[in-house]
Amino acid sequence: MSEGERLTELAKRRGFYFPSSSAYGGAAGFWTYGPQGAALKSNIEDAWRDRYVVKEGHQEISAPDVMPEPVFEASGHLDGFDDMIVECGECGATHRADHLVEDNTDIEEAESLPNEEVMDLIAEHGIECPSCHTSLADQPVDNFNLMFETNIGPGSSSPGYLRPETAQGIFVEFPQLSEYARNQLPFGVAQIGKAYRNEISPRKSLVRVREFTQAELEHFVDPEEDEPPLAEVEDVVLPLYAAAEQQTDDGGQRELTVREAVDEDIVESEWVAYYLGVSKEWYERIGVDMDRFRYRQHLAGERAHYASDCWDAESEVDGDWIEITGFAYRGDYDLSKHAKHSGEDYTVFKQYDEPITVDRATVDPDMSYLGPEFGGSAGAVADALEALAERNPDAFDDDEVTVEVDGKSHTVPVDKTNFSVDEVTENGEHIRPHVVEPSFGVGRIIYTVLAHSYETDEVDGEERTYLGLPPEQAPTTVGVFPLMDKDGMDDLATDIADDLRAAGLSVTYDDSGAIGRRYRRQDEVGTPYCVTVDYESLEDDSEAQRASDSASSAEPRSANRSSGQSPREDGDEPRAGTVTVRERDTTEQKRLPIDGLAETLEQLSTGDRTFDDL
Ligand code: AMP
Repeated sequence: MSEGERLTELAKRRGFYFPSSSAYGGAAGFWTYGPQGAALKSNIEDAWRDRYVVKEGHQEISAPDVMPEPVFEASGHLDGFDDMIVECGECGATHRADHLVEDNTDIEEAESLPNEEVMDLIAEHGIECPSCHTSLADQPVDNFNLMFETNIGPGSSSPGYLRPETAQGIFVEFPQLSEYARNQLPFGVAQIGKAYRNEISPRKSLVRVREFTQAELEHFVDPEEDEPPLAEVEDVVLPLYAAAEQQTDDGGQRELTVREAVDEDIVESEWVAYYLGVSKEWYERIGVDMDRFRYRQHLAGERAHYASDCWDAESEVDGDWIEITGFAYRGDYDLSKHAKHSGEDYTVFKQYDEPITVDRATVDPDMSYLGPEFGGSAGAVADALEALAERNPDAFDDDEVTVEVDGKSHTVPVDKTNFSVDEVTENGEHIRPHVVEPSFGVGRIIYTVLAHSYETDEVDGEERTYLGLPPEQAPTTVGVFPLMDKDGMDDLATDIADDLRAAGLSVTYDDSGAIGRRYRRQDEVGTPYCVTVDYESLEDDSEAQRASDSASSAEPRSANRSSGQSPREDGDEPRAGTVTVRERDTTEQKRLPIDGLAETLEQLSTGDRTFDDL
């Protein structure tokens, strides 16, 4: 079994994730997160929120999944969000053409090649249809738009699309969001939500799906003035696989600090470099194995339509590198497009420290001349004159000035433009912010973290599988077991589980089967600690109780317990007695007092204490 298959088998068996709607035959590319998976997902999302929203001081929003067509006309997704498709002439199956080339040749990033070249490579390497094994040579390689289309309301007059990235829900609302940020750059807006792509060939369980969760941050900055706090991460070592290295035969990954990567111009944008540093530490914290992790720069042909420099965080599973996050410097692409298409103002007013006096060139064209002269184009000619005066006032130095409208030149006598240059005082200017974007795919991160934490060893002569998840990410923090379901061990264990839950820990109670089997079940879902209540716990508890009873002549707690009531209902006095606490990775066990157990487990799971310290 490959690493991925082994993982998917465990994921289905233990409730991390499984194919959706299988009662009806299922639909490829849609997965349901089960109880363990949903808990892991929300822990990873919380860790993301903590690092990229709270610690960075950014804001989070939640925008709709469906957006109207003009949004995607403006963003470029309607025209350019395509993958290469090839259809089998024999069986009609459709495949992602660049992936076929990658799977059957040494070429790594076929996505960056033109369609014709991919078609030639399919013929040259005799690539066959994976479904029916007929040759795909000479089959056209076309573009396929990945967006899911829908209709907003009845009828088809108002097409909409399921968003292919959460980012557009932030860009479209920029004018509003900028107001909330008091129009002060830089500011960041984050969103965790669903994105939808009608992938041609979904594959590798969570890796390529049609509905997935993204965690995206759009950080709006003044390109002239704002700088990232690079010093905070400058010593973080980045495993970088730059574009130039990918294009030479002996090129490879280089380990550079964030500062070196910027100084050597390997990473062009300081903002991107900053987030590569922040993210390296974050991935480590959530359980990505740094020996199976790298940052790879996009090749020129591979870059998205909006990005000027782009790096992917990639993790290795099964010998394949998977893109788990894209870091893009999107410049002012998105805000300019939305400004142009919507006619709204997508700028920020930047106040100067002191007002300045400048020469301002303006025109006030004589429409009684422009009208008869240029007919229907007169308005556009007037607009073009105004733009030219702003851009290049020297053009009005001669007797005539020429402007282009719809590819046609129009010449106007300068005295009909009422051109003038006046001194004006300006308090500031409108600027279009640039955007730096880290875009995380939560499902691929979950897949990576699970694959990288999957461990096997031998315990008591038997092979054991466990997930070495960082305690903070584990779906369950503590498993609580009574050694046997009798003699009050069950009642005490239930009380302890309740107390731990009340303290905010995620707890599973399990009283079924042999204790060894229960440990294995928790090992397989990555539960870092298990608490077992045994006969000794009862003895400790009742001995201490007797001592406390004779001292205070309080009601016997054992009577409460046998009547099914919590022994702590009579007050919050500390509980005597001890339990066994077992650590997942070492399987080491220690006897710890029940009193203060929640605090101890909390400290262990946040890393404030180690098991060895106990
Ligand atoms: P992109 O906008 O293509 O750079 O995607 C941003 C992130 O979303 C990627 O780094 C992936 O982690 C994730 N992603 C993109 N497409 C898919 C998909 N089909 N299935 C799962 N995750 C995806």
